[in-house]
Amino acid sequence: MTLPPSLEEKSAFKKSLNVTSMLRLVLALGIAFLVIQINLDSIESYLYDLRVKTKLITPSSEKIHLIYITPETVQKYKGLPSSVQQVKLLEKLVAAQPRAIVYDFGIEESPGTVDEKNLFEAALISQKDIYVAGKATVMKGEEKLLYFADPFEQVQATPAPKTSDQLNFAKDGVTRRMLLTYQDMPMLQLQLATLYNPEVADVNNVRGHFKFYDTDQAYIDFHKPGTFPSESFENLLDGDTSLEQFKDQIVIIGTDLNLQETEYVKTPYSREVTAMTRIELQANTIDTLIRNSGPTKAPPFLNWLLVGLISILTVYVALTLKPAQGLLILGSTIAGFTAVAFLAFWLFGFWMPMAHPLLAIFLCYYFFIPYRLIIENRRSWEYYQKNKLLSQVEELKTNFISMMSHDLKTPIARIQGMTDVILTDEVTLSSQQREAVDTIKHSADDLLKFINAILNYGRIESEGVRLNLQSKDLNNILTEVVRKHEFLAKVKRIQIVSELEPLFPIPVDSDLMRQVLSNLVENAIKYSPEDTKILVSSEEKENKVVIQVADQGQGIPADELANIFMKFFRSKNAKSSPIKGSGLGLYLAKYFTELHHGTIIVESSYGNGSTFTVELPMEQGGTHA
Ligand code: ADP
Repeated sequence: MTLPPSLEEKSAFKKSLNVTSMLRLVLALGIAFLVIQINLDSIESYLYDLRVKTKLITPSSEKIHLIYITPETVQKYKGLPSSVQQVKLLEKLVAAQPRAIVYDFGIEESPGTVDEKNLFEAALISQKDIYVAGKATVMKGEEKLLYFADPFEQVQATPAPKTSDQLNFAKDGVTRRMLLTYQDMPMLQLQLATLYNPEVADVNNVRGHFKFYDTDQAYIDFHKPGTFPSESFENLLDGDTSLEQFKDQIVIIGTDLNLQETEYVKTPYSREVTAMTRIELQANTIDTLIRNSGPTKAPPFLNWLLVGLISILTVYVALTLKPAQGLLILGSTIAGFTAVAFLAFWLFGFWMPMAHPLLAIFLCYYFFIPYRLIIENRRSWEYYQKNKLLSQVEELKTNFISMMSHDLKTPIARIQGMTDVILTDEVTLSSQQREAVDTIKHSADDLLKFINAILNYGRIESEGVRLNLQSKDLNNILTEVVRKHEFLAKVKRIQIVSELEPLFPIPVDSDLMRQVLSNLVENAIKYSPEDTKILVSSEEKENKVVIQVADQGQGIPADELANIFMKFFRSKNAKSSPIKGSGLGLYLAKYFTELHHGTIIVESSYGNGSTFTVELPMEQGGTHA
């Protein structure tokens, strides 16, 4: 049984809702705050690398060429290429007119006599477009440290160190960023890129540029290993490879000997020590700067905003939506957010933080779901207790009613008996006294009727009803009911019109259906004014017998329509009128009709009469208790 909430209850509920939604907001933001404090660099780096790895197309400036000294080179020359061979290659390369030639390996390790090495040195310094990459940076004022030892003392290195994440961010040794300047000294890559893209000479114009201690840095827009065109040293020197291809290019000469860790870097593509050669890293770095396409990291406030919003959404979903719906929304949020983060990276090189927002979803969800379960359990426990109390009250009420009714019936019977005795005395009573005794007798009759209705209801409630189904033509029952009520109708000059179509007999409990139909006809008479009509009709429709009782009475107000089949319900008008009733008739009518697998409905508009419709199936599905 549900009780309509009172206004007071409603406003208390609203207030508690406001308090809880405020509390939820605070909790969600609290969790967001905690999540932000957690260092998730290793997860973030993994998600960053995943975006790099899955980026299918990275355009290239097509300005960089690589020349490798490989184990095959060493095998062919029975050692590293000698200084003489280096000079020969350099001459060939210079003739091809590249934009720059970069040596990124230990030039001093090239075998040869001091004179041969001096010739190599001379060749190296002969052109301004020949660079030697230094692996370390030097402090301001210590530039002399960039010069090599004798016999290469005139060769100056330009710093081009790899910037791996050793001490900050993921600390996994992977190279994701590049140094642009150190103490305002531009690194080799920046100098080379400036040859093609002068804009980046000012590091503030470099996309994704950030300051870190005394350095300017940016993230590298990586290409898959093996993307840049490459040749082997010996092929170039001894073969007939066309040198045309080097015109206007940056040519980087380095090693791929698999000998030292310093020859290689770990990249977002692979964390293997030999994932990419140093010169390929240089190529990626220079290319990023030429195209100025380095990824840009989202500002920290965006991380805050995302985590906050996602936490609020997740808490709302976890606490208010149905679990399946909630999971669907969260799943879509995760998928949508991931898709946006990946697309933003692939298409615009925009690096959105993913680790914190994703963790916020999981934490908020797994924190609030148990909380919701506890609240729901407590609520159902309260409902259970309330229901228990209600059914106890109901039982008490039923017992009380039947006890009272029994105890009232005997005195009423006595009153009826005595009034009968008095009324048979035709002599001694004055007409006034007779009228008074008559009123006593009618009142006693009404009271008895009321008590019988309640007793009947009490019996049904406690014992239930056993259907006694027999095949019956409902028109017969209807005719009988109408006939029984004709006298009552006549008193109010109400005309009952019957429009009964022939019916097939259907299995019904005649007593119960008689009660149902009697109640409808009696109500129609009771709640109709004098000089009106009541239409009683029957017909067969779609395997159902349909019976209607329509009147021209005052009708039922819209706000009471939903309640009239509830037990003891009487409309406000009925209660304030002299029309008597218990409020049980329609409740029992519905109960009995439903026992027959039928339905009873009412259509009414206030002031325009009411039509009650009973529908019974032609075939019954068995008996019911
Ligand atoms: P009662 O004993 O009060 O007639 P019922 O259960 O039969 O109890 O009906 C419940 C209430 O529905 C009535 O009190 C009355 O307000 C309303 N009602 C029932 N039938 C009609 C009708 N034909 N016209 C208007 N109101 C009706």
